Amino acid sequence: MTLERLRRQKEIPITWAKPAQPEKASLLRAHTPEHLARLEQPVDFDGDTPYLPGIADHARASAGAGLEAVKAARAGESVFSLMRPPGHHATRDRAMGFCYLGNIAIAALEALATGIKRVAIYDFDVHHGNGTEDVLMNHPGVAFFSIHQYPCYPGTGGRNVGNNCFNFPVAPETPRGEYRQILSSAFEHLQDFKPELVGVSAGFDAYARDPLAQETLETEDYHWLGTSFRELGVPVFSLLEGGYSDDLPDLIFAYLRGLEGK
Ligand SMILES: [Zn+2]
Repeated sequence: MTLERLRRQKEIPITWAKPAQPEKASLLRAHTPEHLARLEQPVDFDGDTPYLPGIADHARASAGAGLEAVKAARAGESVFSLMRPPGHHATRDRAMGFCYLGNIAIAALEALATGIKRVAIYDFDVHHGNGTEDVLMNHPGVAFFSIHQYPCYPGTGGRNVGNNCFNFPVAPETPRGEYRQILSSAFEHLQDFKPELVGVSAGFDAYARDPLAQETLETEDYHWLGTSFRELGVPVFSLLEGGYSDDLPDLIFAYLRGLEGK
């Protein structure tokens, strides 16, 4: 549905690209060798996260798109990865919550390994990015900011952890204006970190009509988020995480328009 929506629109110019296969070394910065081997074994990971034929290839393609997104951002392009499966719940050694590989953590570690000194990750998916936190906690040069409903899946994210993971828990059914203030507060903390590169875990499930959570954001809030990242003045790459309402194409389009200043 999102592909159709984006192909139909004429407001923003889009160049489509396919992901490259990532090097195993890039995946191993974020995951154990045992976890990479486990992805090939035909046994479900948990109730949300099935084994499916070819799932390891899909997960690697999604991670590969994240790596391409970093390159594009560093080349001055505005870039969004529309790939699934998502990644922010995958821990160093475990697939969970629809996530198999930690796409954004893999991308951040690649950036640090290739000359970037300070990377910030901003995660506005309605669920806590526990996997990103697990991989990046106390890693020099990275700061992680997650704004999410709490309590909610996966049950973590109630407080800051390590020296670089900053959690902004939001109660269920928090009024929209208040939610925006919390997003702004996290954004200010991110700016204080003075990142050279920003990765965004862009999940669209804090939307008022999303079936998986109980929050209140509207389409224009995603446009505002896009605009906010544009105005940061540093390279930004965004990777799709969750988003389960039928309005997802419009939410993504609003975010992209914001990123493009339209
Ligand atoms: Zn989510």
